[in-house]
Amino acid sequence: MPTAGTRERIGVFGGTFDPPHSGHLRVAGDVADQLSLGRVLWIPARRSPFKRDEECSSPEVRLEMVRSAVMTDPRFEVDDRELRRPGLSWTVETLEELRSEHPEADLFLIVGADQFLQFARWRGAERIVRLARVAVMNRAGISARAGSPDVIAAVPGLSDAVLSVPVTDVDVSSTDVRAVVRAGGDPSGMVPEEVERVIRERGLYAD
Ligand code: ATP
Repeated sequence: MPTAGTRERIGVFGGTFDPPHSGHLRVAGDVADQLSLGRVLWIPARRSPFKRDEECSSPEVRLEMVRSAVMTDPRFEVDDRELRRPGLSWTVETLEELRSEHPEADLFLIVGADQFLQFARWRGAERIVRLARVAVMNRAGISARAGSPDVIAAVPGLSDAVLSVPVTDVDVSSTDVRAVVRAGGDPSGMVPEEVERVIRERGLYAD
């Protein structure tokens, strides 16, 4: 709990998490350390507007995997509001809700450099930067510098809201994990043990 006079600092970490992997865990921990976040809310999206045509695992299975993954760090929590909300998952709606639930907190929207390159196209981008700071993490293979000045110039208020947070380069994606499993390989090391167990028991990504 924050002590009197200090504002609570809450990270908001959205994603498809199909599955959550060791990159997610590592960078979320790095951001929490660097920004002194007391809590990081992992918020699985029912359906990302940017992945709306892609098949993904059911909300229940992704929630189960995220719940297992976040047990590794006491600052991490799962927030399933986007899975409960029908339709596309708009970050701006989530932040509006969090802002009214935590009027005194500082909110930090945590995004990887790959996602940030599209930020100007997010619904309500101008509103988002009034609701939260935007913490951008480097991501292996993505040269954010190439696109970021354009992104920052395109959204009024973003230059004051954006923070670049250096994190450990972890060259893992959910796409990689799915591909390894599909090819009959062993994803251990790419995902926490508990997530690996769910993948195995439920036969995910096998076909
Ligand atoms: P996919 O390969 O299916 O597109 P993903 O690995 O990018 O998935 P998401 O669930 O879409 O995983 O990611 C959630 C958030 O975490 C995004 O902001 C993304 O940029 C960030 N992220 C994911 N993996 C990494 C990583 N290895 N390093 C830094 N940021 C990451």
